[in-house]
Amino acid sequence: MLSNIRIVLVQTFHPGNIGAAARAMKTMGLTDLVLVNPRSFPDEDATRLAAGATDVLENARCVSTLEEAVSDCVQVVGASARLRSMPLPHYDEPDEMAQQVIENATHAPVAMVFGRERSGLTNDEIRCCSHQVSIPANPEYGILNLSQAVQILAYEVHRAWRKHDANHFEYQRPLEATPPSREQFGHFQEHLGRLMQQSGFLTQPHARTEEQLQALFARAQPSRKELSLLRGLLSAFETHLPKQ
Ligand code: SAH
Repeated sequence: MLSNIRIVLVQTFHPGNIGAAARAMKTMGLTDLVLVNPRSFPDEDATRLAAGATDVLENARCVSTLEEAVSDCVQVVGASARLRSMPLPHYDEPDEMAQQVIENATHAPVAMVFGRERSGLTNDEIRCCSHQVSIPANPEYGILNLSQAVQILAYEVHRAWRKHDANHFEYQRPLEATPPSREQFGHFQEHLGRLMQQSGFLTQPHARTEEQLQALFARAQPSRKELSLLRGLLSAFETHLPKQ
């Protein structure tokens, strides 16, 4: 279950933070590290700060976009100190997030995403996420060091995992209740966007309207089955469009 929980670090500037994050992960039983465009990796500082967790660094994968890092995941939680205009489902308490992450990780990969030291995550990157989480902290200065933010969320996940009753019967979640992967969700959003244009609902690209609708569907958290119903509905509408 813990092996299904991925830590994604986006464009980390200080390689030492990558090493410290790897150590934070290993102390909490996490092993899957993905780096999106790190400034410098592999790097001596990363290895030094990883201490006994160099194996996590050795197995880390580097990719060039966040989308690539999370497309197979059924839940993607972006860690952010600030609230964004994108109204994604938001966890105000990391322990609530951890419970759901553990639940989902029983069956499929799940990611927790951390932003750049200086500027965090861009709005486009937040859009790749299904949820957001903030670590409650001093309102006057609540921005943690990147690896410390990883440590806190990894600890919460580990705690939720320990509490997940050892005798808990691993019930097989029916397929219809499984959340869609980010890739499947992305295909739905593209389909919806396309149809909004073709039907004349949007006469010109109007990012704000699309974004609002995308956020609505993100909050609804449809299952795989429900998403395929929606896709079917869009396809049915599509066949009635006048030929262009
Ligand atoms: N100036 C940046 C801060 C980046 S800190 C900003 O305003 O977003 C680097 C990363 O650590 C953040 O992108 C976030 O993923 C994580 N982080 C730091 N403090 C956090 C907090 N209080 N809650 C959740 N994540 C936090």
